[in-house]
Amino acid sequence: MIEDNLVNESRVRVISVLEELVKNVNKSSLKFCSCKQCLSDIAAIASNNLPPRYCIISEHAYEDKRAEGLTYDVIKGKVEEAIEIVTEYPHHDREI
Ligand SMILES: [Zn+2]
Repeated sequence: MIEDNLVNESRVRVISVLEELVKNVNKSSLKFCSCKQCLSDIAAIASNNLPPRYCIISEHAYEDKRAEGLTYDVIKGKVEEAIEIVTEYPHHDREI
């Protein structure tokens, strides 16, 4: 279907940067909770604070679009802002 080929590049890159930060958390001065709830909240906040960048996945087009998309520093900055918010107001102790 159509949605199978439609990807929000902003969301993909937010998750990629966040995963990198989680992987390197021991080497970084940036400390944050890495439970599923907090990571989901961080990804949601950062994604909401970036413009959506939808692209169609095909063999070559996706890589081309990535190159002209948002810069790594912009994405990382939004993720770090989201980490600050979630660290200050975590939801991981709420019952869902
Ligand atoms: Zn947490």
